Amino acid sequence: MSNQITIGVLSYQGSVEEHLHCLEQLPNVRAIPVKTLAALEEADGLILPGGESTTISKLLDIFGLMEPLRKRIEGGMPVWGTCAGMILLAKEIVGEPAHLAVMDITVRRNAYGTQLDSFTELVTVPEICTQPIPLTFIRAPWIEKADEKKVQILCRLHGHIVAARQGHMLVTSYHPEVTDDRHTHQYFANMVVSSAE
Ligand code: GLN
Repeated sequence: MSNQITIGVLSYQGSVEEHLHCLEQLPNVRAIPVKTLAALEEADGLILPGGESTTISKLLDIFGLMEPLRKRIEGGMPVWGTCAGMILLAKEIVGEPAHLAVMDITVRRNAYGTQLDSFTELVTVPEICTQPIPLTFIRAPWIEKADEKKVQILCRLHGHIVAARQGHMLVTSYHPEVTDDRHTHQYFANMVVSSAE
């Protein structure tokens, strides 16, 4: 199938299986776990899942993927960071050093409190879906600051930015992979298709 795209999920820690499962439900998408350089090279686009950003960052270093991944993203590979993934992509993290440091946003970790403060809210994210979709927040970060000359704000919730896009980079504070809603996965798959064209 010539119109098939391959989307990887960085598979060190966090909601890996959940994202792979969501991708498998999309037409013309092949989903692969990515842990090695060889797998990264196969991917047309990559999801950085939620989990623990400090742990995923350490594993990126241990597996030698931090630099190759940064290069691929800087070279234009579409990437979507959910929650911890958003933290990995940010150029600035309040009070801590950055990781991949590729996107012009400042994030605040655990901005919504602890696991016990997790919540889901129905919200319209016009760029992604004209109907409200469920946004689930689990020890989520928010975007404290974004360079709005470069970054498109996709969603604000109670005054805080929770979804944004900078060209081929998408970030969401929320976790669509724990809901039945596939609009954000489809939106990212469309970004991968357009970049492959
Ligand atoms: N609190 C986590 C972190 O700082 C992110 C939580 C998540 O991805 N669900 O990395």
